[in-house]
Amino acid sequence: MATVLGCIADDFTGATDLAGLLARSGARVSLRIGVPTSPPTDTAPFEVIALKSRTAPQAEAIADARAALAWLQTAGAERFFWKYCSTFDSTAEGNIGPVAEALMADIGTDQTIYCPAFPENGRSIYMGNLFVGEQPLSESPMKDHPLTPMRDSNLMRLLTPQVRRDVGLINQPVVAQGTAAVRGSLDALRTQGTAHVIIDAVADADLETIARACRHLPLLTGGSAIAMPLPELYASDGWLSLDRTETGHAAPPARTVVLSGSCSSMTRAQVAAYIATGAPHYRLDPLALAQDGPRAVLEWLARQDLDKAPLVYATAAPASVKAAQACLGTEAAGRLVEDTLATCATTARDAGARRIIVAGGETSGAVTKALRVNRLDIGHEIAPGVPWTFCTSAGHDIALALKSGNFGTETFFTDALRILEAT
Ligand code: ADP
Repeated sequence: MATVLGCIADDFTGATDLAGLLARSGARVSLRIGVPTSPPTDTAPFEVIALKSRTAPQAEAIADARAALAWLQTAGAERFFWKYCSTFDSTAEGNIGPVAEALMADIGTDQTIYCPAFPENGRSIYMGNLFVGEQPLSESPMKDHPLTPMRDSNLMRLLTPQVRRDVGLINQPVVAQGTAAVRGSLDALRTQGTAHVIIDAVADADLETIARACRHLPLLTGGSAIAMPLPELYASDGWLSLDRTETGHAAPPARTVVLSGSCSSMTRAQVAAYIATGAPHYRLDPLALAQDGPRAVLEWLARQDLDKAPLVYATAAPASVKAAQACLGTEAAGRLVEDTLATCATTARDAGARRIIVAGGETSGAVTKALRVNRLDIGHEIAPGVPWTFCTSAGHDIALALKSGNFGTETFFTDALRILEAT
């Protein structure tokens, strides 16, 4: 089937989050990890390509996004979605804006929107300012993120240095007036030459209005939630039918490993709650890893009963992360942890693990790469934006849960196992 919406996500958990929300509609959603090397076959109405470009060098992020776009165009897509984090994770240079501008140029469009809001997960935008729960982004735990610390909450100030063309805002009072008002503002901004339009949203109803008003644009950008109304809208436009079939994936055997490389505050609470259940656990220390390599953790893992779903984690408080980064360098510390958790994943798989739960966006990227997984089918949601996914790795059927930083509640790891049992 020709692809109706071609999506490009800047990290793996962002891609699974988006795919999961699109799949809520009953539409078939396929997620490809990295730009596929062969031409499109067996395509779904919603194709999501997961890149690992959030913190990649800008030229690489742009090249990957353009290649993904070209593949999606070959798959028949005429509408596109550029997905980034609901906390607008980026550096002063990008990559959110530069990639959007490159995609706009290739698609041949002169305007797009930016709506990272995800009200169900507490991300809202008001007067261009992004909030995480009740806190402005820059006062939220995102200010301490190891790779993309967010020190400003104002999306216009964050986006402007990342793009060449003008940035504008459609604020919440306008959104509250409905679809026609948003469409009118969009057109007025276009006349003024405003290419990049940030749109406020504080509730799902706002997202519905925005999706209705903006669905004619060939490129939309945002967090996953703004894409959620699109399947129903496309169905009412007659572009696809929603058959609401179940995924049909049976839960694989219980042998499980849980891997956490996220240091987000919610993940820290999740790790603590999981340890409190009595689950076997091993804490990775980046300094010890730099000195002695991964032997100790791999030996520990080899001794574990995978039916007890052991946890390996590097998750640590900001002070401890900063100490490791000061000693090893931010990138090197991150890579060391990611490589080690990726090796734990393949080792556990070879020892019989058929369920792998990963916390951390970058960490999930490293794990899926090591498992050589290149396509995922989307299954049941564990928490908003985090579905179980099904794939094959080294000839084995594996269920993978990929969770980015602050998603899920404290009981996420046990929730994931319970939900898989119930399918
Ligand atoms: P999140 O989804 O919470 O952003 P990520 O996996 O994307 O999580 O990013 C966390 C980064 O921090 C990864 O690169 C990871 O390897 C790194 N990291 C994890 N634990 C530590 C630690 N104890 N010290 C330094 N860096 C760490």
